[in-house]
Amino acid sequence: MGTLLTEHLARRGAADWRADNFNAGPAALPREVLERAQRELLNFEGTGMSVMELSHRSKTYEAVQERAEALLRELLSIPPEYRVLFLQGGASLQFAMVPMNFLKPGQTAAYVRTGSWSEKAEKEAAALGQVRVAASTEEGGYRRIPGMGEIQVAPDDAYLHITSNNTIEGTQWHEFADTGQVPLVADMSSDILSRPIPVEKFGLIYAGAQKNLGPSGVTVVILREAWLEHARRDIPTMLRYDIHAKNRSLYNTPPTFAIYLLGLVLEWAREQGGVAALADRNERKARIVYEAIDQSEGFYTGHAEPPSRSRMNITFRCPTPDLDQRFAAEAEEAGLVGLAGHRSVGGLRASLYNAVSEASCTRLAEFMQDFRRRWG
Ligand SMILES: *Cc1c(COP(=O)(O)O)cnc(C)c1O
Repeated sequence: MGTLLTEHLARRGAADWRADNFNAGPAALPREVLERAQRELLNFEGTGMSVMELSHRSKTYEAVQERAEALLRELLSIPPEYRVLFLQGGASLQFAMVPMNFLKPGQTAAYVRTGSWSEKAEKEAAALGQVRVAASTEEGGYRRIPGMGEIQVAPDDAYLHITSNNTIEGTQWHEFADTGQVPLVADMSSDILSRPIPVEKFGLIYAGAQKNLGPSGVTVVILREAWLEHARRDIPTMLRYDIHAKNRSLYNTPPTFAIYLLGLVLEWAREQGGVAALADRNERKARIVYEAIDQSEGFYTGHAEPPSRSRMNITFRCPTPDLDQRFAAEAEEAGLVGLAGHRSVGGLRASLYNAVSEASCTRLAEFMQDFRRRWG
């Protein structure tokens, strides 16, 4: 066993010991955030109540939600003509809400197929209206992101939908297509806040919080206000973006505690130096693990083609499925958790979201070298 890992494991009995958490989602949260939530749990800002016990109509709670929105706007440089919504139902409900609001009879929505989540988004839209595949990298098992030239957009498409990071397959868009007048919609569930993004290129961005933003239970939607005016109004109230926008995400009771934690994660992100600093760190972290794959003389093979590799979810495998299983089990023994690949792809997956430290990545690389020495 490598020295860093040995030292880390020696502290395992300590009350504040933390596993190296590579879970795909829900995933690691910053220790500082959990500690602060713990300190504030019983008596939030002198109210004598937990955030969970506050009325969502109280000034104290409203300030919590407004602060979370302001921080998100600052960190992602969201232009003023965009609205930020905090909704429920996960990214999966957004698969349906986007076409319900923006895919009208007689129109076609274009979807880029890059993995299981994009398939699900497309399927949901197809149940509600006309859908077209703008590009697909299904052949060969979703190992890459299509080139910008491969994507077929028609000027009258209702929108073009992409999945900016394919959590299960481990691929990520490193540039975004110019779609002209056609609104670009992105599922950014697994890479929002991991790098700067050109928000002005998008009509709508959505993300379930439980990967990079906070706990499960809240979904962030960022959408261009001008597009909102074209949203359908003949759908159930809770599914209407315009209703949530008009009511500043307080049409009904929002997931108050999840939004509070999201705000704490955003404050933490700002203390880390913001999104550009996080992106640099994420690049270094990913390099540590990809190098362990690439320098393994063929023992480990990556799933994604190198130019499409994700910095958030690293998918790889050992020479046999038996060794993959053994790897995940032995890693767990060594405090490295969440490394089994998704059942649809198999193999192994290390999710390196913002709250995963460089030290965790180094310990994983150490373990990978050690495992190869023993089983290679
Ligand atoms: C996790 C994930 C989802 C599903 O999110 P839920 O909040 O569970 O609905 C959708 N898309 C992507 C890219 C994801 O990573």
